[in-house]
Amino acid sequence: MNVQWCIGDKLFGAMAVLVLFVTVGYYGATQGYLESRFERYFKEKTTELFEIYYKEHKNSWEGIEEMKISDGLEQRNTDQREIALSPDENILFFRGSSVPGSLIQQGKLNTVMVNGTTVGTIYVDGWESAEDYLLKKYILDSMRTQGLWVPALTGIIALLLGLWLTKKLTQPLKRLIPAIHKIAAQELHIRIPVTTRDEFGKVTEALNHMAQQLFRAEEVRKNLTADVAHELRTPLSIIQCHMEMIQEGGRDIPPETLLPIQDEVIRLSKLVDDLHQLTLAEAGKLQLDRSKADLVPVLDRIIDMLKPEAEERHIEIVRSYPAQKMNAFIDPNRITQVFYNLLINAMRYTSSGGKISIRITDTSHDESRFASVSITDTGVGIAAEQLPFLFDRFYRVEESRSRHTGGMGLGLAIAKEFVEAHRGSISVQSEVGRGTQFTVYLPCA
Ligand code: ATP
Ligand code: MG
Repeated sequence: MNVQWCIGDKLFGAMAVLVLFVTVGYYGATQGYLESRFERYFKEKTTELFEIYYKEHKNSWEGIEEMKISDGLEQRNTDQREIALSPDENILFFRGSSVPGSLIQQGKLNTVMVNGTTVGTIYVDGWESAEDYLLKKYILDSMRTQGLWVPALTGIIALLLGLWLTKKLTQPLKRLIPAIHKIAAQELHIRIPVTTRDEFGKVTEALNHMAQQLFRAEEVRKNLTADVAHELRTPLSIIQCHMEMIQEGGRDIPPETLLPIQDEVIRLSKLVDDLHQLTLAEAGKLQLDRSKADLVPVLDRIIDMLKPEAEERHIEIVRSYPAQKMNAFIDPNRITQVFYNLLINAMRYTSSGGKISIRITDTSHDESRFASVSITDTGVGIAAEQLPFLFDRFYRVEESRSRHTGGMGLGLAIAKEFVEAHRGSISVQSEVGRGTQFTVYLPCA
């Protein structure tokens, strides 16, 4: 069903209910409610006649038998209503065509009160006089005919309003539908203009974001295959080349001939292992063996491993640790890998005579405490436009860099996935020529 009709149907339904409600409400108010108000008013008016008589005659019913009810029409009408007054057992006043007894038994009654004391009871066959009846009939009849206009007019306004609203509501949806079809057909580069700040604007923004994410995911998927093939090609051709040389040589194989092959095999194993870890983490299937662990010894172990190379290259390693233990809720093996990747990078991209500072502090965010570990180097730095892609798989700042000085571009992607698996986060700040700082936030134990 067309979306305009779908929404239109519901709107019209709602409007119809509204019109019905207004009509019933209007008739209920004008007819039922006013009728009861009139009845009360006429009852009070009739009772008041007798109250005034009683007061005017010095609190007595003297001469009541002769009282004329000054109601012009009623005086002339032969079918005038019957009225009786009885202060006690006796009937003091009666006007009517039948006998007072039947009126007292079947009629309506009201007590006459003067200064808080009951001075009599009046009985009537109806509270309204003939004149009152005509007045009431005139008012109610005119309201009934006028009343038809109200729902009719409301209905027309509701119809027009419904048409206008349906159009207004469906217009942005109509714009979205072809765009959604395009996204479904893999045209992921499309962007829908956001023209409003309302819910439709938010849906449009969400759709644009979704298309962008899908586009990126598709790019990553395509690149991954190309990157893996690319990374495999070089070591495999080196191995192949060495094997051919060995075969052609036809002599005993000296161990040093096998070294380059071994290097490439190690490299290939690392690539396969890194990719495996990364795929597990991205799929949310990374097994974490988390426990409360102090971050200081975790970092110290890695620094001890890197110390000989740092000393050889005159790179100073400065630690700034808190006085007390900094316990985080981590899988120590995975977090070792994170800091190892970051420290290896810092070493790799810092030239001789540089400095690497490691600082541990604690911070609070959204009422949770985090241990923050920052690794700052005085290395080459990274240009601002490269920073958004730094944690992508296979992303390297200088593509052309020699494959033996650089890595495969998986270290930071793995670090990010591992940290996020711990519900932590990682950020980077850098300035070309001055250095780079990576900060890891891990939930405290
Ligand atoms: P791998 O870690 O897989 O062996 P890699 O070190 O090249 O390879 P990443 O650790 O993901 O890959 O780093 C990605 C890129 O970010 C690097 O190629 C490098 O250009 C840049 N980079 C990372 N850390 C630093 C740093 N401390 N200083 C300067 N550039 C850095
Ligand atoms: Mg690295």
